[in-house]
Amino acid sequence: MALVALKNVTKTYPPQAKGGRAVVAVDDVTLEVEPGDVYGIIGYSGAGKSTLVRLVNALEPASSGSITIDGRELVGLPERELRGIRLGIGMIFQQFNLFDSKTVHANVAYPLQVAGWSKAEITARVAELLEFVGLADKARNYPDQLSGGQKQRVGIARALATSPRLLLADEATSALDPETTHEVLELLKRVNREFGVTIIVITHEMDVIQSIATKVAVMDSGRVIENGDVFDVFSDP
Ligand code: ADP
Ligand code: ADP
Repeated sequence: MALVALKNVTKTYPPQAKGGRAVVAVDDVTLEVEPGDVYGIIGYSGAGKSTLVRLVNALEPASSGSITIDGRELVGLPERELRGIRLGIGMIFQQFNLFDSKTVHANVAYPLQVAGWSKAEITARVAELLEFVGLADKARNYPDQLSGGQKQRVGIARALATSPRLLLADEATSALDPETTHEVLELLKRVNREFGVTIIVITHEMDVIQSIATKVAVMDSGRVIENGDVFDVFSDP
């Protein structure tokens, strides 16, 4: 069974101003992400990628269509249950979205506190995660004392804290230089291989897709105009 399945999903934003036009940000999208996939979603700015991610993460309701995660329909689910589903999804961002006033340790501990873990469990889990991302020696540092690549590794540790099956990466390397991008993508490959985490990678960069994804959907004006194995999609004449 697909881990994430979208069927005829449309998201329309109402007009921003009086007399303005509604925006169809996601337009009749159908796609399936299988467990263990690294699934790329590529497209220019404004293509609808971020909206798609927010729909999958249940941060916004779809206007129509069906979205299932592990067979559970999100569309129409009450907010309380959506929150539970969100806890099973990790997310990393272009601007890292770390808490600047918290240490690296506290940033990674945060989702575990929210989930109600004990102090001893949190200490052990955070140590394990920082070890995994290669930042065990930075636990007491603050984000502004870290490089961009290190910040994103903290973001990855935090996203994995509660052992989600699905990780959403929204332009996660777009703020990084090529070498650091490579390091972060290698780390994400390990997350996929070693923990079996399914990853959806949103990007406007072809290189990122070529480096990490096995499958890809190409978005344009809210629609998926092509999808399939990366090799097949990009070898088309
Ligand atoms: P991408 O991530 O590919 O750059 P987005 O999903 O951010 O694309 O945007 C797709 C379209 O939806 C754009 O036309 C954008 O202006 C519009 N849009 C995105 N978010 C909102 C919103 N909250 N309200 C109104 N329009 C939005
Ligand atoms: P187990 O030993 O329980 O079978 P695994 O071999 O799946 O666990 O994972 C080994 C380590 O990786 C464990 O310490 C576990 O906490 C951690 N781990 C497992 N799944 C994930 C995940 N999705 N994200 C982050 N860490 C994970």
